[in-house]
Amino acid sequence: MAIDPSDTPDVVLIGAGIMSATLGTFLKDLEPSLTVSMYETLHDCAQESSQSWNNAGTGHAANCELNYTPQHPDGSVDISRALKVNTEFDVSRQFWAYLVRKGVIPSPREFIRPCPHMSFVTGDDNVNFLRARHEAMSAHHCYSGMAYSEDRAAIAEWAPLIIEGRDPDEPVAATRMVTGTDVDFGALTHRLVAALSKQSGFAVHYNRKVTNLEREESGRWRVTIEDTYDGTHQSVSAKFVFVGAGGAAVELMQKSGIPEGRGYGGFPVSGIWLRCDADDVARRHHAKVYGKAAAGSPPMSVPHLDTRVVDGKTSLLFGPYAGFSSKFLKHGSPTDLFASITPSNIVPLLDVGKDNIALVDYLVGQVLQTGRHQFQTLKEIFPTARKADWKEAVAGQRVQIIKPAEHRHGVLEFGTELVSAEDKSLAVLLGASPGASTAAFIATQILETIFGSKLTADAWLPALKRIIPTYGIDLTIDADACRAIRAETASVLEIEEF
Ligand SMILES: Cc1cc2nc3c(=O)[nH]c(=O)nc-3n(C[C@H](O)[C@H](O)[C@H](O)COP(=O)(O)OP(=O)(O)OC[C@H]3O[C@@H](n4cnc5c(N)ncnc54)[C@H](O)[C@@H]3O)c2cc1C
Repeated sequence: MAIDPSDTPDVVLIGAGIMSATLGTFLKDLEPSLTVSMYETLHDCAQESSQSWNNAGTGHAANCELNYTPQHPDGSVDISRALKVNTEFDVSRQFWAYLVRKGVIPSPREFIRPCPHMSFVTGDDNVNFLRARHEAMSAHHCYSGMAYSEDRAAIAEWAPLIIEGRDPDEPVAATRMVTGTDVDFGALTHRLVAALSKQSGFAVHYNRKVTNLEREESGRWRVTIEDTYDGTHQSVSAKFVFVGAGGAAVELMQKSGIPEGRGYGGFPVSGIWLRCDADDVARRHHAKVYGKAAAGSPPMSVPHLDTRVVDGKTSLLFGPYAGFSSKFLKHGSPTDLFASITPSNIVPLLDVGKDNIALVDYLVGQVLQTGRHQFQTLKEIFPTARKADWKEAVAGQRVQIIKPAEHRHGVLEFGTELVSAEDKSLAVLLGASPGASTAAFIATQILETIFGSKLTADAWLPALKRIIPTYGIDLTIDADACRAIRAETASVLEIEEF
């Protein structure tokens, strides 16, 4: 284990997942003299949601996820949320391309591969929706080149497994973006932490759990850390703390006592995958195929049939089947949810339960599903799937945000949210969607919120623009800038360009 350069680091990063690794990389790049200490409960980085098999590895660019494009009662489709997610992914692409060019990541194939993103629906209503969605999206430069088809033979060319064995009279439709990607966020996190560890002023400490956050009179944070082997404690004093603790972020925010965190709670959603490592099956599917959500299901739990490449091996992943578990992390404790209930969030929590009966019903239904039911869901998208080729795997935990609203009511949020202390000494990342794909965009948000005074021409701004050349440009509006940066990042990352 590396030695901490000091007991008073400028920055403490809690958690060694993709978020802390990304923020740490930005900070050390912008100001190499910063001292940064990363603390991680587990024995290595990327062992929770950022671990390769704990997430789906979709480079979320809102190409195929139908929940980002709601349909209005008049039949028109709203693509504004999709455009936001789509261009947030451009920030990650630029960050990763910068690291490849700089040699921090020797080859983009370590973590990113081209993988077409498809949406696939059946039934007249869904086909009508997908047609309207395609019309709206393909007219925008961000989705230029999106292909659409209702023709079974054409769809079978794209993804044979979803057409073979299907009722020939069933209406079907699909869209396809060849610019889609499969990303191994576990491999990426390892690469980032390894590169950080080589820099002076950075230290990562494994088997170290942050147990408390207290304000010092000076305005710094006293961070208490437990050695998970022998139970001993130490503490350090930091000027800025980033709580990148994934599902456990809510608990640590509560411990910090920042007034901005009052009323927040977390609602954990667990997940199960079906995974197929059979080469003869995996070889015949090269796409991430997203379907339509079942009524009441949480938007991020729409089952999808994905190509995954991890450690050079191609597999297929289907799911996740959402479920309920009171743990906030896969390696967490069943008491996590109950321990997070406080007088300030009990009302929002109860409110969310009352207002989301359909979701609760859905999750209970999923928990009660047998393996046979789950396999049946797979057959709805891959009709000729053979049971013997698939095994169950446990996905990472997602903790959805329960947010205080007016009159002490609560709302359930499926996105991510950055909560920060007014004096900019602490920032907490809550939620898990669109997730790892937007880690670089989230890092820029933290820079703006916490280090805004440094984003000037004589401080960090020129370096930030070297990392993110389109920083400050709205790519949903500037079509030329969008096309140019996509061409450049596609070439460096060796992914498809349109
Ligand atoms: C089923 C599923 C599918 C997903 N699919 C996708 C996808 O296809 N594409 C995508 O972009 N995103 C996806 N995501 C979301 C993505 O995985 C997460 O948003 C992202 O990995 C979160 O990164 P993180 O660094 O915040 O958290 P994590 O990777 O969970 O890391 C948090 C770390 O903090 C540590 N920690 C917690 N508490 C403490 C403490 N007190 N002290 C020290 N360390 C602590 C944990 O051990 C952990 O290592 C998916 C998530 C799930 C669960």
